Amino acid sequence: MMEVKVHTDLITAHDLLEAIRSFPLKRLLEHCGTQFLVAPFDFHATCPQCRTRIKVRSFSGVSEIEDVFDAVI
Ligand SMILES: [Zn+2]
Repeated sequence: MMEVKVHTDLITAHDLLEAIRSFPLKRLLEHCGTQFLVAPFDFHATCPQCRTRIKVRSFSGVSEIEDVFDAVI
């Protein structure tokens, strides 16, 4: 009987690379009817129209792909 070894580490790494590859370089936000781009790692963005600081990243316990980047970088 052949032993089948499942390489879960490789699958995880592959999935992570796919996520990184498809990760947007800029995040599109909309405020005051205006769309603008912010860096995906920024926690806050400032609306170019009303200068309001907008929270763009979650501080909750929900794991986000950005958190993976924070861990790697
Ligand atoms: Zn605004």
